[in-house]
Amino acid sequence: MNKKRLIIFGIGLAVTFLIVSYLRKDAPRLFHIQGQTMGTIIYNVKYVASEVDGLDAMISQELRDFNQSLSTYISDSEISRLNKTGSLTYESKFIYPVLKASKEVFDQTRGTFDPSLGPLVQAWGFGPDKNVPNPDSAKVDSLKAVIGFGRVSFDENQVSLPTNFQLDFSAIAKGYAVDVVAELLEEKGIENYMVEIGGEVRCRGRNDQDKPWALGIEDPTVQSNEQKLMAIVRLKNLSLATSGNYRNYFEKEGKIYAHIIDPRTGYTAKHNLLSASVFASDCMTADAYATAFMVLGLEYSKEIMNAQNLDAILIYRSENGIESFVSEGIRPFLEMNNAEGELK
Ligand code: ADP
Ligand code: MG
Repeated sequence: MNKKRLIIFGIGLAVTFLIVSYLRKDAPRLFHIQGQTMGTIIYNVKYVASEVDGLDAMISQELRDFNQSLSTYISDSEISRLNKTGSLTYESKFIYPVLKASKEVFDQTRGTFDPSLGPLVQAWGFGPDKNVPNPDSAKVDSLKAVIGFGRVSFDENQVSLPTNFQLDFSAIAKGYAVDVVAELLEEKGIENYMVEIGGEVRCRGRNDQDKPWALGIEDPTVQSNEQKLMAIVRLKNLSLATSGNYRNYFEKEGKIYAHIIDPRTGYTAKHNLLSASVFASDCMTADAYATAFMVLGLEYSKEIMNAQNLDAILIYRSENGIESFVSEGIRPFLEMNNAEGELK
């Protein structure tokens, strides 16, 4: 081969290589991004599409912005400043949607989902300061005077709180963050994805095996450091959020205190419901109802599911042991699961 031919051959080879790698990069395939947010919460984002450059960094930036707005654990976050001063003209895009969604669920659940519980959350030691003594009944009564989301006034631009009110969106922060990440993916043209943050999930389209993504329902009876799925539900374009008293509680002087508070009493919610997994089109709404259900208990939750046309799986303790209630809309899509391992 003479020199000229060799050069042409070399160029041809390089061009072929570039075309092949370009096509490979562009072909839809499964990507998995994992990270950590809100302290120690793990998130997983899976999508089937052609690769979006820099998506990993965009997601973590979006979650940082989200926390800088809504975390009560960050002392200069937007929400912490609102709690200090009692009023706020929105700075980020995050506050107004969460106020609006919260008001809706508050109204539909007899006030049992209430993000104005901040002072009670602090008093019970579920907030940033864990080392507080349990409140006595006089303290609980006095704090009940500074809660009630119905008294928080807000519009599209600003919010103001009555004196001594504190907002705390911890119960729906994970679900809301899932929606925020899902919207980011949709903005990037991704149509097949699953976003999961600390167990709250939203999915759209299909996975790499051309099936709807699997949403896992955890077994609420296993110990806190283990994880076992009781069932999976394969549905397109749906969110799932779970609230359960079995995992996040603390024990003090032989008593168990769950971290969900009944705003009507000021005490931690107590009944036979072990966990509520709620389905909705957006994850923030699912998350808020899941918390409300843990306050309301089995029978009231069923009533609200009927009234709001919501699907849910409720796991409860009865005299026969552990039982579950699966709403009709979900039944055809439920697969009982004995397998361990990663969901796809
Ligand atoms: P779960 O994972 O069980 O849903 P979350 O962590 O989502 O629990 O929500 C519990 C947190 O929400 C509590 O730590 C507290 O900050 C707050 N909270 C407790 N009770 C309520 C309630 N009735 N309405 C709204 N927020 C609540
Ligand atoms: Mg929650």
